[in-house]
Amino acid sequence: MTVLADARAARAAGGWLLLWDIDGTLLLRASRAHAEAVWAALLEVHGLDRDALETRTGAGPKGAGMTDGQIARLLLEAAGVDAAEIDAHASRVRARTCELYAPDDLTAHLNPGVDALLAELHEREDVVQTLVTGNFEPVARRKLEAAGIGRWFDATLGGGFGSDHEVRDHLPAIARTRVGAALRDDGAPWPAERTIVIGDTPRDIACARHDGVGVIAVATGPHAVDELADADAVAEDVATLRDVLLARLDAPADRPPTGSPSTA
Ligand SMILES: [Mg+2]
Repeated sequence: MTVLADARAARAAGGWLLLWDIDGTLLLRASRAHAEAVWAALLEVHGLDRDALETRTGAGPKGAGMTDGQIARLLLEAAGVDAAEIDAHASRVRARTCELYAPDDLTAHLNPGVDALLAELHEREDVVQTLVTGNFEPVARRKLEAAGIGRWFDATLGGGFGSDHEVRDHLPAIARTRVGAALRDDGAPWPAERTIVIGDTPRDIACARHDGVGVIAVATGPHAVDELADADAVAEDVATLRDVLLARLDAPADRPPTGSPSTA
């Protein structure tokens, strides 16, 4: 059965939409070639020298959970580029970043256990899986292919990407709209109450709250469990994430496990 056919079955079952973050969630420390592509695009498109960007802020752990466009903007602002220039060249920066991004084999960067969890969830007829990530979409697709997990994410379903909006808070609604249009008979957005964001930063939690969807955090990125306490639940690793997520998916519909954050 194709991913899309599975997803249609999930829709028919009134199933769950899972919106996976990539960096720090599916993959660990897999951003080097990505960051280099953003930098190279900024240097080329804006005619900057590397020293101008070395004084930057916003990259590294502080940038975790930001969209690619947001990180590019912060780097450029720190280098003294004005907002009008940034806006005028944003689409060119995006296009060049995607052209320049050429990851090596990233299979060693899989978050341990995540491939098996994606496979297990794929077997469930009540689950549709796609992406909400700050990565530009072509970067996201190439990164997952390089890590060997691209097959779990059907591009025809859509998702929410850094190439769709610079503000992550808007991405879950974009993903629900696209998946609903692809799978639902009425074309309406996938219901918020049947959607869960899975991510590793407070920004993942914030975007889920903005859209009124659920959120499970996993502390495998730069943030510790106690920094992610605003999520519905926090997992310390993928094994714990599996337990927390399956409990959520299998909870009786009339008693959704919400309320105080829990650490399993
Ligand atoms: Mg992340």
